[in-house]
Amino acid sequence: MALLEVDNLDVRFPLRHGEIQAVRDLSFTLERGERLGIVGESGAGKSVLGFSLVNLLAAPGRIIGGSIRFEGRELIGLPEHRWRHLRGRRIAMIFQDPRATLNPVLTIGAQMIETVRAHRRLGGRSARAMVLRTLEQVRIDDPESRLAQYPHELSGGLCQRVVIAIALLLDPDIIVADEPTTSLDVTIQADIVNLLLTLCQQRSISLILISHDLGVVNQLTHRLMIMYAGAIVEQGPTRQLLNDPQHPYTQALINALPEMTPPRQPLQQLPGAMPSLSAVPTGCAFHPRCPYRLDALGQPRQVCIDTPPDFTDVADTQVACHVVRELIATTQDSMPFDEETT
Ligand code: SF4
Repeated sequence: MALLEVDNLDVRFPLRHGEIQAVRDLSFTLERGERLGIVGESGAGKSVLGFSLVNLLAAPGRIIGGSIRFEGRELIGLPEHRWRHLRGRRIAMIFQDPRATLNPVLTIGAQMIETVRAHRRLGGRSARAMVLRTLEQVRIDDPESRLAQYPHELSGGLCQRVVIAIALLLDPDIIVADEPTTSLDVTIQADIVNLLLTLCQQRSISLILISHDLGVVNQLTHRLMIMYAGAIVEQGPTRQLLNDPQHPYTQALINALPEMTPPRQPLQQLPGAMPSLSAVPTGCAFHPRCPYRLDALGQPRQVCIDTPPDFTDVADTQVACHVVRELIATTQDSMPFDEETT
């Protein structure tokens, strides 16, 4: 049994007219100690998925279908008092903006000690010792003096280290990290990435890393899911997926990286924009932007417009694309019969 199993998850935000389909029929698993990246452009539904996993979905968002099981137990529908026990202790979340995560009117020490004592039966002195040990583990110099400081007295990088320390305090099984380096200076992003990697490895923590940065997920994760318009379009081992992308959207994301562009050439931007999640295109949601939506005669592929593609296995990756499915079927049809059938 996987540590976390998500099946056919559907998350919607009702509107006065219609609804936002933020997460559509999404399934994946996460093993103990595994690090999974979730990548896509802004508006793909990545953060909504992250918030759904820790039951922090903002109103009026609702999970309207599917299942989220942690160690085999269903989490959807769990009452909030059970979630308070689970969140932080078993599944922790690191948010994008560390300053918004920390309470501005409490010192670092007060909020960390409060977190420990809300979940563990520890006296003030033991809780303080635990906090100091954790601050040392996230490589914060002079942790004693940091305890008396307020968030506004710390740099962005230090604030994010404190947030990571809070996530680690209760020794969780899973950390969901939503763009943990986006709001930081480029110079300290690499430090935070290395810190997360080391801590997850040392403690066998499973990581779900939500990011738009393919470089960061390449460094940190074993497996990768590419999201488009609320759904997964491709998933598989990170290296394989980045070295040999199959889905036209994954290919476009990789081609748009600056390092893929020859010197003095313009960046290969993907034309168009992510569709509104309140008006997801029919069939394959990527079809209005897809370079393969036309056939060899220049005619639109009707199947791309009408029918959502199922997943096709290509080596160890799963790809939701009609053209990839046709190519694989053609290749298999043209293969010689194996010995048993001849
Ligand atoms: Fe493009 Fe069609 Fe594949 Fe969608 S299913 S990615 S539109 S070729």
